[in-house]
Amino acid sequence: MRVVVTGAAGFIGSHLTETLLDRGHAVVGIDNLLTGDLANIAHLRTRDFEFIHHDVTKYIDVSGAVDAVLHWASPASPIDYLELPIQTLKVGSLGTHNALGLAKAKRARFVLASTSEVYGDPLEHPQKETYWGNVNPIGPRGVYDEAKRFGEAITLAYHRYHGLDTKIVRIFNTYGPRMRLRDGRAVPAFMSQALQNEDLTVFGDGTQTRSFCYVSDLVDGILRLLDSNTNDPVNIGNPHEITIEQIARTIIRLVGSPSTIVYRPLPVDDPKQRRPDITRARTLLGWEPTIDLEEGLLKTIAYFKQRVA
Ligand code: UDP
Repeated sequence: MRVVVTGAAGFIGSHLTETLLDRGHAVVGIDNLLTGDLANIAHLRTRDFEFIHHDVTKYIDVSGAVDAVLHWASPASPIDYLELPIQTLKVGSLGTHNALGLAKAKRARFVLASTSEVYGDPLEHPQKETYWGNVNPIGPRGVYDEAKRFGEAITLAYHRYHGLDTKIVRIFNTYGPRMRLRDGRAVPAFMSQALQNEDLTVFGDGTQTRSFCYVSDLVDGILRLLDSNTNDPVNIGNPHEITIEQIARTIIRLVGSPSTIVYRPLPVDDPKQRRPDITRARTLLGWEPTIDLEEGLLKTIAYFKQRVA
């Protein structure tokens, strides 16, 4: 296959690109490097990989045949949404429209990177794909949540109206090497703090929960979805739920750091709980995460050690 990956220089986009290359496919990566980093893909330049520096909110021009378009471009951390609200809205709306247009022109399959954020601060727990969500459209996170909800709507419209073979993956919290040290998310924040013997900044009282999936498990689920014949959204995430205080303590222990925990105000609309129901991924894709939390955290700490040094 020849696969277009938007956001190829990002955290998940670069892992997707690398795994596609490992499986013998050709990849065209597109990124405007707003939050992506060429360092994430520098080691792929000698492979069957082309890179196009481009902002996908503008018309996307790719010559030659394309078999699949994976639309991964977007800022993806709560700090990024605060700093880049309009770009976040544009890439989720205009960018998704352009990526769908490319897939339609090439008669390619399409996968949208959606998110557990479409469930907002969920009133149903764990979250099944049938849950419609509890999103504040005008809060600071609304720029991301609503852009992704629009993205899902236009993706299904292309499927229903144009007969495009589209997939939607709802990604739950994912972690691993190549996250930005300062993207503000819990895992990179806690790791860089623990490695530098600084106190870990837990927001709120730390009782809010998340369920963290290691990036290689996520990529495996995405590629199974690409090869499946479902067009319905599928949650991909690790159902192992943990409080934010627990993950902070686990990271302190694994790093062997003298750091302690300090408490900071909870961001606006911070979801209180989040855990995927992965029944659909299990039954439709035969997918299940295989990397347990401590194993994944140790691999990630090894990466952050080099970055902090
Ligand atoms: N969080 C925290 N300290 C930090 C960064 C994040 O306590 O330095 C909390 C945040 O308030 C949220 C959870 O960790 O409850 C996960 O936050 P993240 O930004 O990683 O992603 P989210 O799941 O909120 O999109």
